[in-house]
Amino acid sequence: MKEETQIIHNIPVDPFTGSLGVPIYQTSTFEQEAPGVNKGFDYARSGNPTRKVLEDQIAKLEEGVAGFAFASGLAAIDAVLKLLDKDDEIIAVDDIYGGTYRLFTQIYQKFGIKIKLVDTTNPDLVEAAITSKTKFIWLETPTNPTLKICDISKIAEIASTNNVLLVVDNTFASPILQKPLTLGADIVVHSATKYLAGHSDVIAGLVAVNSEELADKIKFVQNASGAILGPWDSWLTIRGIETLALRVYKQSENAFRIAHQLNSLDEIEKVYYPGLKSHKNHHIAAKQQKKFGGMISFYLKNNQVQTATDIVCNTKLFKLAESLGGVKSLICHPASMTHKATPVDVKKEAGIEDSLIRISIGIEDSDDLFNDLKYAIKQSVNQTAFV
Ligand SMILES: *Cc1c(COP(=O)(O)O)cnc(C)c1O
Repeated sequence: MKEETQIIHNIPVDPFTGSLGVPIYQTSTFEQEAPGVNKGFDYARSGNPTRKVLEDQIAKLEEGVAGFAFASGLAAIDAVLKLLDKDDEIIAVDDIYGGTYRLFTQIYQKFGIKIKLVDTTNPDLVEAAITSKTKFIWLETPTNPTLKICDISKIAEIASTNNVLLVVDNTFASPILQKPLTLGADIVVHSATKYLAGHSDVIAGLVAVNSEELADKIKFVQNASGAILGPWDSWLTIRGIETLALRVYKQSENAFRIAHQLNSLDEIEKVYYPGLKSHKNHHIAAKQQKKFGGMISFYLKNNQVQTATDIVCNTKLFKLAESLGGVKSLICHPASMTHKATPVDVKKEAGIEDSLIRISIGIEDSDDLFNDLKYAIKQSVNQTAFV
């Protein structure tokens, strides 16, 4: 059976009523026949039937042995970090999601966990950074906002030779385009807030793992720390995933066209998109992803902050907002929004130019989207030229 069929039919019909819609079990507890004798659920922090449908769905989508749902992407990441002990080290992709970096450095560092940021596009640098204390290699691919691509299988080999676990934050690609566990990763995390739920209407996080041992450990943390996803938000995420393939294919096709069109505009200095032949690791993206995804970044020849902020205010269809992966197209200016707090030299190092603009392509018509961008770019660059 093809994956597009499986996604729909992974969702069980309710055995009690025949309901095609997944029932929302809004309950905190479950009646027991005798102490410890129950129908598989005893208390809703430990397990909820609606949440379980979602957890089974992500396990199947990522081809893992088990899945877990959390209150946000960061809560999912937090649960994975709780597998570590004092003095353990993490080697992480250098342009890691800002919220993950904040969690690493401002919460876990004070409990004695060390973070080393490495340019993970170069597997040799990853290998060189490993010490006897390294427990995790933490990847994102594509990265945010410059869409760097890291070779998951190559880094998985390095991880397993050195007895280190490979964790991949698969938020940007989504499991419909890329399945890190099948490439050798041990743990996958998601901000399901983005592509998986897909409608900019829920905050959720998911974890999938490749072994029973890791499943037991994450299950323990999920119950012990308790940052679970509620039944309503589980239901919204289940419903979102039903159309994941349709949405992400359309978003990828739109983005592929728009990236090429942007590339031919005189006002633009550089477009970052893994689907462009000019992208540094285009061949790796082509090898490990089914399509190239819906995220694009670009910066301007004049490289002016003012022009970039004018552009993000002048688009009509692209809404100015943080986040990504929904059906509606979004636009943002990382230097003054998502990466505002990042020091200037760190921004430069990560390739975040003053005029860098990041767009999340939705499911609208691609010509409408490109015309909206083109008009805003031409109008804003001309305005700046006349000041
Ligand atoms: C948004 C995001 C997160 C955090 O997820 P939340 O659902 O906002 O907590 C983590 N990683 C990546 C790559 C993200 O884009």
